[in-house]
This record gives sequence, C-alpha cells and structure tokens, in this order.
Amino acid sequence: MAGLFLYEGFKKSLMEDINETLREIAVKVNNTYRSTHGVTWEDAIRETEEEFKIHQPFIQVVKFPRRGGNFPEKVIRSDKITSNVFILRRELYYKADKSDINDLVYVTFTEEKLTSYPLRILLFPVRGSYIVQVGISLESTASALRQLLVTMGLAGILLLLFSSLGGNFIIRKALLPVKSVVQTAKKITADDLSLRIDSENRKDEIGSLVETLNDMIARLEKSVKKIRQFSGDVSHELRTPLTIIRGEIEVILRKVRKGEEYQKTLKSVLEETYQMEKIIDNLLFLSRVEASKKIKFTERILLNEILLEVFESRDQSARSKGVNFVIKRIVPTLVKGDKTLLERLISNIIDNAIRYTPSEGCVEINLEKNDKFALLNIRDTGIGIPEESLPFIFDRFYVVDKSRCKESGGSGLGLSIVKSVADSHGAIIDVKSVINQGTTFQIKFQLS
Ligand code: ADP
Repeated sequence: MAGLFLYEGFKKSLMEDINETLREIAVKVNNTYRSTHGVTWEDAIRETEEEFKIHQPFIQVVKFPRRGGNFPEKVIRSDKITSNVFILRRELYYKADKSDINDLVYVTFTEEKLTSYPLRILLFPVRGSYIVQVGISLESTASALRQLLVTMGLAGILLLLFSSLGGNFIIRKALLPVKSVVQTAKKITADDLSLRIDSENRKDEIGSLVETLNDMIARLEKSVKKIRQFSGDVSHELRTPLTIIRGEIEVILRKVRKGEEYQKTLKSVLEETYQMEKIIDNLLFLSRVEASKKIKFTERILLNEILLEVFESRDQSARSKGVNFVIKRIVPTLVKGDKTLLERLISNIIDNAIRYTPSEGCVEINLEKNDKFALLNIRDTGIGIPEESLPFIFDRFYVVDKSRCKESGGSGLGLSIVKSVADSHGAIIDVKSVINQGTTFQIKFQLS
C-alpha cells in the first residue's frame, strides 16, 4: 500500500517536472521569436532546440484560421519533424487557444513515426492565432518509474527476508530464558526442592514468571518438609507404645509367672494400646478437619448448647478431681459450623483445663457476644504454660513437658485439632498464661 502511494507520488512529480519543462520550452520559442525584429519561427525553434537539446524536444508552431478556412492554416516545424505526423485533433488547438497560463492543454500522444515512446505535449497559445506545440518523449519518465518499481520490489523482498530472519532471531532470543527455566524445572523433584531458577535479575515477564515459580517451589518445599516431619512424628509416637508393649511381653515370657503378674502386664499393654488408639483417632480426626477446610459451612449451630453438653459431660470428672468447674455466663449464640468439630474444639480445651488444674483449682466458662462476634473464654487456675512454649502449643505432637504428659495421657494432638477446627470456622484463638497462676483460652467466633 505504502509502495503504491510512493509510486503514484513519484509519477505525479515526474509529470509535473515534464509539464514545467514543456512550458519553459514553449515560452522560450515565443520569446525568441518576439525578441528581435526579423527572427522567424524557424530561427526561434532551432535556437530553442539547441538550448534544450538534452530533452530532445519536438517543436512546431501551428497557425489556425480564426474565421473558417482550412486547418491548419500554416505549420512551422523543426527539422526533426518531416511531415504532418505531429498534428493533433483540431478541437485541441481551439481549446488551447482559449486556455490561460493556469489551465494549459497537455496531452499524451503516440506517434510511431516520431518516437516509439509516448510523447507528452503542450499546446501553448501565443499572440496571432499561433499555438506553440512542444513534445517530449516519456522514455526517461518510464525508465525512472521502472527503476523505482524494481527498487521497490527488491526492497520488499529484502524487508520480508530481514523481518522473517529478525523475527526468528527475536523469538529465539526471547525463548532462550524459557529454555533455561524448563531445564531447571525438570531437575526439581520432591527429593530436591532446594533448587531455585535463576531469574538473572530480569525485570520483564520472564523475570516475574521465574519469581512466581520460585515462590511456588518454596511453598512446596515447606509443605513437603512439614509432611516429612509429621510422618516422622507419627511413626515415633506410635513406635514408643509398641516398644513398651514388646518389652513387657518379652520380659513376662522369659519364664513361667504367677497369674497376677500376667494380669499386671496385660493391663499395662492394654493401656499402651489405648494410647495408640487415641493417637490414631486424633490423627484421623485431624485429617477430617483439614479436609473440611475447603467446605463452606452453612448449618447454624447454637454454640451455647454445645457448651452446656460438654460442661455436663465433664462436670463429674472435674468434681472427682476436686476442681471447681463453673459457668460464669452463657448467652444464646448462633454460629455457622459443624457440630461435631465444634464439640471437639470445646471439649479439648476444657479437658486440658481440668487436666492441668490441680484440686482446689477452678475452671470457668464464659460465653458473651456483641453484634459481630461471640467470645468464648475458658479460664483455669492451673499450672500454666511457660512463655517460651506458647508459640508451639498448637503444633502437632508438641507437649510442654514429656513426663507431665505421660501422666496425663496427652499426645500433643489436642490443641492442633483445636487450631484446625478454629481455622476451618474462621475463628481466632488467643491464649494467655501465667505459670502457676493459670491459663485462659479465648476464641472469637463470627456470628452467623
Ligand atoms: P495434650 O494432648 O498433650 O494435652 P495438647 O495439644 O492438648 O496436648 O496441648 C499441648 C501442650 O500444651 C500440653 O502438653 C500441655 O502441656 C499444654 N497445655 C494445654 N492446655 C493447657 C492448660 N490449660 N494449662 C496448662 N498447660 C496446658
């Protein structure tokens, strides 16, 4: 398209140049004829031909009759024009006679006897019913246009060639970093997540892609580490009671023993199996809670009712331990959630509170609400949690004191279940504890 504009523009400017030259020649013929007395049209034509010889013009002067008479009345030609072959249609001369300097008559005309190329002709009116007729061959114009076409064609081909080569080069260069990303990504497996892709400090899309991938790998590395740590902990926790069971059985089987001795060993074995069963139950429950995190709860639950149920079921054991278990205040509270999960959250905290509070101590429940939140406080006056342990109490298998938990039968999964359930319900837990003074668990629920 741009080529077409260029071609047409060039053609137009060549034509304008030719028209201008024709006009100069015609003016020169006329001026020469009129310059001195005695100069004939033949002299003027010859002199002008000599001056403009590089254009090889064809010049003749045509006189046409004003009123009637044969046309042309008279023709004065250059020596190059041998006969009447340069005479055009008569109307054109009449039209030229009426034309002025801004509206001259130009025509393109082909006459094999003069030249094999078309001629550009100007019919220039001068005084005395004369028309100075000048023609120039369009050969040079045609060859200039041909050359332009060839140049444009070559430029087009070169442009195509360069753009396709350049495009190829740019694409290759742009994809080079992607190749290195792919190569590094292939090396990354679950066994080796420490590798990172080098972004070479790029600030472009590739750089941000590499950054995103590296972030993703870092998150995966963290999760895989957690899973490994967890499965290691599980094996360890299950292995301990199993080792105890095996040891006790091996010892009792060494010789024949009395009936009470077998009974004592079996009792201890039973206790260890209870402990294992509890760990497995808790683990299964935990995986259920984790799975529920993707579910949006729709059921409306009365938190105060669950709280009362748990209170009643634990009242007896607290009393027999000599712990003063009381309700300060419980207001009706509706939350969206899962009843079994919420029951477990509350009972785990209450069980801990009773477990870690010595006799004469107190465990107090308080459920209040404002227009946005419900606040559940479970406060005990027990042994408390050391400050340095507070950040870890929600970790799986974390126990503050191994010997203490052995007596209490805890396995360090209770509070991780609490945290998981709270997370799945969008609740926030806050713990405050002072050693030997007591602990308060506060859970903030969104009201439904
Ligand atoms: P466990 O099943 O061993 O009780 P948890 O995950 O429930 O495990 O609790 C983790 C640790 O936090 C416990 O080992 C215990 O030492 C401490 N803990 C939890 N609740 C209380 C509390 N109310 N008072 C004192 N210590 C507590």
